[in-house]
Amino acid sequence: MKILVVNAGSSSLKYQLFDMDNGDVLAKGLCERIGIDGAITHKCPGKPDHKVDADFPNHKAAIELVLSLLTDKELGVIRSVDEIGAVGHRFAHGGEKLRQSSVLGDEEIKYLESIVELNPLHGPPAISGFKACKEVMPSIKHVGVFDTSYYATIEDYAYIYPIPYELYEEYKIRRYGFHGTSHRYVAAKAAEMLGKKDAKIITCHLGNGSSITATMNGKSVDTSMGFTPQDGVPMGTRSGALDPTVPSFIMKKLGIGAEEVDKILNSKSGLLGVSGVSSDCRDVCAAADKGEYRSQLALKILVHHIKKIIGSYVAEMNGLDALVFTAGIGENDRGLRANVCREMSYLGIEMDEEVNATCPRGEDVDVSAKGAKVKTFVIPTNEEYMIALDTMNLVK
Ligand code: ADP
Repeated sequence: MKILVVNAGSSSLKYQLFDMDNGDVLAKGLCERIGIDGAITHKCPGKPDHKVDADFPNHKAAIELVLSLLTDKELGVIRSVDEIGAVGHRFAHGGEKLRQSSVLGDEEIKYLESIVELNPLHGPPAISGFKACKEVMPSIKHVGVFDTSYYATIEDYAYIYPIPYELYEEYKIRRYGFHGTSHRYVAAKAAEMLGKKDAKIITCHLGNGSSITATMNGKSVDTSMGFTPQDGVPMGTRSGALDPTVPSFIMKKLGIGAEEVDKILNSKSGLLGVSGVSSDCRDVCAAADKGEYRSQLALKILVHHIKKIIGSYVAEMNGLDALVFTAGIGENDRGLRANVCREMSYLGIEMDEEVNATCPRGEDVDVSAKGAKVKTFVIPTNEEYMIALDTMNLVK
């Protein structure tokens, strides 16, 4: 069965077409600058990349061009759209009700529309991307896969914040967690590598946005992102967890409102805010290597917070079988991985720094020291494959 995976952002639309008979990616690409002017990069293995300017007034125009490229005589990989068995859509937020991947009908979309306040950045474009795809492919089933649904198994004492309970009841203020599809994929891979279904696993998804998740017996028990993706470890431009009074103190001192303080904590903090150099970890590492104090500090803060969360999850699970690194920084930054794992032998975490330093990119690698109680793995994430798999399983 062929499954098209769609991830719609406010001005972008990413797609991948999978052949689920063997898991191969037949084609993938990115539509950019939707609603502005437009450009598409379309890639098929064995064929030259196709990058052209396009005119995308909206998501519908973008998906129409994607389908015409997928079925194009020269660039195409399928003869007709009818070959697509189903479409899987990535949604960041499924709220409290959409607790697992689901075929999307009117009721589900109505619910997703009712919770856009919880997810103002990603919700509206994902819904509009879905509607465009549904309009262009009305006879195909469309499935929603939600980043939050992996956390449906978290206990109430881990997701309810210690604030007046009525605020949870009235406004649904609670921990939701994000990046769940990525954590679900790498945790399952790690359990497979361990050969143990009931494993205790901590997965560190470290990219522009970063989160850490604890998984026990294949179910998540806690995660570092919370009500929004702002919580947890410091990120490219997000602060991560803070003393709750810091935002209101900044507001008073700078004489600014809620939106502006959100902007500071979301877009001007994290690696960028501390280093003053960049939100991109590679730039911060380069500046730190040149002796730049604030860049060195930004990286030390990041490592410090990652270690703290790992320690707390070992305590929560009363043990650990595997620690996993994934996403842009986790998969590529060997130095950061080594710094996180250093001086963690009390917890059983010991890395073979030579294996780590020569770890090939794009592969699942065991970088733990021989005889270490806890395995340390580097596992490239593959959210799109997970979305395709859920979609296929739901429509089969
Ligand atoms: P997103 O959250 O946008 O999906 P990614 O998972 O692609 O982000 O991660 C982007 C981050 O990964 C950036 O901070 C980038 O600097 C970092 N990164 C990518 N390659 C390397 C590398 N070789 N060394 C250090 N950091 C890297």
